[in-house]
Amino acid sequence: CTPCREGTGWMWRVMERMVTGEADMAEIDMLLDVASQVEGHTICGLGDAAAWPIQGLFRHFRHEVEDRITQYRAGRPHVQGATLVAAE
Ligand code: SF4
Repeated sequence: CTPCREGTGWMWRVMERMVTGEADMAEIDMLLDVASQVEGHTICGLGDAAAWPIQGLFRHFRHEVEDRITQYRAGRPHVQGATLVAAE
């Protein structure tokens, strides 16, 4: 169904950038908006299963993601087990 097919791929791509800190702060609310459009609007429960972890992450650990984005912007990117060099 469309919300899951389009939404999960988009959410995954943004989450990949959240992991490294490369995402923009504004994308957090955009991501939550898309997750809420997927949640409850799909044929089966797999759409919910994709949206709920994202909603839970930001409900409980939004500050961690924001810190990671801030660190990346400051030239101190962090990835578990590795250090990236920020693009100039
Ligand atoms: S929500 Fe279920 S039916 Fe819809 S695309 Fe995802 S897996 Fe398929």
